[in-house]
Amino acid sequence: MGLNDSSPGAMRNGRGLSDQWAESVVVRPRTTERHITVHKRLVLGFALSILTLIIVTAVAVVLSVRFEECGGRDRDGMTGELGSRGSSGSGKMNGSRGERMGERGDEEAAQPWRNSRLPGSLRPRHYDLRLAVYMDNFTFSGDVSIELECVNATRFIVLHSDLVEKINIWGGAMRIHRHFPFPANQMYVVVLHRELKPMRLYRLNITFDAAIEDELLGFFRSSYTLQREKRYLAVTQFSPIHARKAFPCFDEPIYKATFSLTLRHDPQYTSLSNMPVESSTLADEDGWVTNHFARTPRMSTYYLAWAVCNFTYKETQTDSGVTIRLYARPDAISSGAGDYALHITKRLLGFYQDYFKVQYSLPKLDLLAVPKHPYAAMENWGLSVFVEQKILLDAEVSSSSYQMELTMVVVHEICHQWFGDLVTPVWWEDVWLKEGFAHFFEYVGTDFLFPKWNMEKQRFLTDVLHEVMLLDGLSSSHPISQEVQQATDIDRVFDWIAYKKVSAELVFIQKDTSQIHMYSNAARDDLWNKLSQAMRSEGRDINIGEMMDRWTLQMGYPIITIILLTITDIVLLLHSLQWQVPLTVALGNASTVCSESLIWVNNKTETHRIGEMDDNTWLLGNINQTGYFRVNYDLQNWKLLIQQLHNNPQIISVGNRAGLIDDAFNLARAGYLPQGVSLQLIGYLPEETSFLPWHAASRALYQLDKLLDRTDEYSLFSDYVLKQVASRYHQIGWPTNGPSNEGSNVLQASYQTEELQRELIMLACSFGNKQCHRQAVVYISDWISSNKNRIPPNIRDIVYCTGVSLMDEDVWEFIWMKFHSSTAVSEKKILLEALTCSDNTFLLNRLLNLSLTSDLVPEQDVIDVIIHVGRNPQGRNLAWKYFRDKWDVLNARYGEALFMNSKLIGGVTEFLNTEKELSELKEFIQSSGVGAGPALPRALEIVEGNVRWHRLHRRQFYQWLRKPPALG
Ligand SMILES: [Zn+2]
Repeated sequence: MGLNDSSPGAMRNGRGLSDQWAESVVVRPRTTERHITVHKRLVLGFALSILTLIIVTAVAVVLSVRFEECGGRDRDGMTGELGSRGSSGSGKMNGSRGERMGERGDEEAAQPWRNSRLPGSLRPRHYDLRLAVYMDNFTFSGDVSIELECVNATRFIVLHSDLVEKINIWGGAMRIHRHFPFPANQMYVVVLHRELKPMRLYRLNITFDAAIEDELLGFFRSSYTLQREKRYLAVTQFSPIHARKAFPCFDEPIYKATFSLTLRHDPQYTSLSNMPVESSTLADEDGWVTNHFARTPRMSTYYLAWAVCNFTYKETQTDSGVTIRLYARPDAISSGAGDYALHITKRLLGFYQDYFKVQYSLPKLDLLAVPKHPYAAMENWGLSVFVEQKILLDAEVSSSSYQMELTMVVVHEICHQWFGDLVTPVWWEDVWLKEGFAHFFEYVGTDFLFPKWNMEKQRFLTDVLHEVMLLDGLSSSHPISQEVQQATDIDRVFDWIAYKKVSAELVFIQKDTSQIHMYSNAARDDLWNKLSQAMRSEGRDINIGEMMDRWTLQMGYPIITIILLTITDIVLLLHSLQWQVPLTVALGNASTVCSESLIWVNNKTETHRIGEMDDNTWLLGNINQTGYFRVNYDLQNWKLLIQQLHNNPQIISVGNRAGLIDDAFNLARAGYLPQGVSLQLIGYLPEETSFLPWHAASRALYQLDKLLDRTDEYSLFSDYVLKQVASRYHQIGWPTNGPSNEGSNVLQASYQTEELQRELIMLACSFGNKQCHRQAVVYISDWISSNKNRIPPNIRDIVYCTGVSLMDEDVWEFIWMKFHSSTAVSEKKILLEALTCSDNTFLLNRLLNLSLTSDLVPEQDVIDVIIHVGRNPQGRNLAWKYFRDKWDVLNARYGEALFMNSKLIGGVTEFLNTEKELSELKEFIQSSGVGAGPALPRALEIVEGNVRWHRLHRRQFYQWLRKPPALG
């Protein structure tokens, strides 16, 4: 599943920020013993590649052998009610009350539906699901026939059902005593007269009615306008726990089954599902069409999907004969906005098939671009659904960052066709497996598509490693693998910790296991042992299992401080929790860097001999930032490193230059380092020619900007930033908008330069460079007077936002008008964001109200509008107040999509930094915190941190800026 992130370069009144947030959770001890079932072909294929090894490891951790016991019996064939099964043995599933109940009373008293997990006595094998969809009144009626296998004798059938009404149940040979809903757990309970017998198959039939919801979950509707006519479509979003809103089912990922779907609807619509249409009939009486879709492979309920729409499509075929279609609004298809995604999907399917050595297993893959969706995308097997902004690309008007973000979402979702669809976590607490791996492959896959973007080597550092460490450093962070009990816990595991920390650690494992070409599909401890043995044979005595548990079960990351003891020895101090840290260290001076050595740090204090050092030798730790930890040094070493950067930055690798910046600012922010050290460090930026260190610096500076921009001495800070930016900004200049740019603004060789140029223009305009402002105003004026948009696509968002913030109300109205008339999704997005950049609180207020109460702004963009108003210093109080005033409405609308709610809460609170705002937040939590999940405690921690920084460090920070000491 793809999370909705704002674009990495999104402006806030000219200031770029990226969304950073995660959920908090209490650390609980948990068991680590897990087993595995693996798709056979996958197992075979995985033997061949080393990364694959890791994947299987992952699988090993999650997939439960308990299920294997059930699955293993499939061979025996069916008899039973429909006949009795040959073999014996009682496969116990998690949460199941395994023993057969001797007395009915005991079981009745136990009331298995009161448990938040399904009892596990029954296992669905196949669903026949038939739905009639009424688009005129947004309802549907269905009947589902579920073939069940009894695992343990029981008198109760407990399954999930939510929002499904008028249920009717009959059970064939089973005699039903009574049935009733149990809404607290979104369950439906059928009580039978007689016990079901283990090893037998039964059939349960349910008819039901339900609404096609106006919210973003379950089977829901949305709309778009085509030639002034409003058109509707209806689509599903079942992950993680919303299949139960569309039909009664066993809605936990472990209950994999096959599905045969039939959809009946008005013939003006098309219908789609995971599988192709097998047969289609037209009814004589009403002319309605009935589509029978082919039976799916065994899969979890949350991957089932269907859509009813009147989209058109373009298609292509892979070499192995898989048909890929991209479905979207007819105007988007005819304008070619889907061509790019279709093209890269075709390449990616081939790439992943080779990489994983497993064929894509369905006959087709549809990509559906919908106007409204709670996530960036969802990887339903054979029918992936994307929000338009993450799949439609109008090449002439899209920026490079838009294209990059879109590319990575597509790469991520296509990866899920293997990781997730084929191999599924047993339960949601291990969702990190599929999401972490898919996120890691975003970089691998994008690197395959566009080697010159240098994604894997470079952007990974700033966009994954630096970002997740920012979150993971909070005490409200959580271990990668976290316990999930309640349905409401589930959304919070889909967060950046799950996505990014795992992929950050994969980089490390990949490096360290690259010699091993074997794997195990047994318990993960076996696998760890084999890895450890292999490493031992290389002379490295490491207990991998112990190490990996520390990384996945502990939250946070280690900080290592390197202190020079004598001219040959260093002391290593390991802060925080118990870790084993693979620290690489190198010595260097003005002309050379010696080759690195590896030290495994296990203890809180360790002394190591490192080689001969003189007064000009500096030490550098975590070479190329491949390890998931921060490194601090004694002040003298920092001074030498900074001097080196000023004199000749190229001696230190580009990854380490970015890493030093990120470490220094974060260590200073947490009080581990004097504030002046990080500021002095970026004094070398005029010498910096690479994108990555600039990117790391701007991320750090925007973080500080949030803290400082309402302080009296703010100009000291902004002037200092502008001083660092000026020379490189003037040298690199603005992009030209010549014909050479058209259609391929990002591609290939110039990518890094264009990104650097964009970063510099954004910094310059955000922090108030006069020339930058003038240039933006000239562009906007030209657009208004000529009605021709000649602004280079790559910097349009910066120009729009700067123009709106500097120019008068007419410009705002002009942009508002363009927002309505534009059909290109990327353009619409940045026009809407630009509207939030105004200094005029009346206009901002108008925008907020229009967003929430009219349908002028798409529903999922409303949250972004509020967050972006909050990023504008002139709009902060407004957004914060608006959020609290409208909390009831917002919570009702987005509350269930916890992810959106968390994004909103994080977005409107991250800039709060005064005592007054802190108490307002506490008050708000007290009065309305119920139902908001863990986002509020996390927000509180961030705001407390902000207030603490002001109390402890602001004075020192400004003192340094008033009188920066000379170097050396
Ligand atoms: Zn995903």
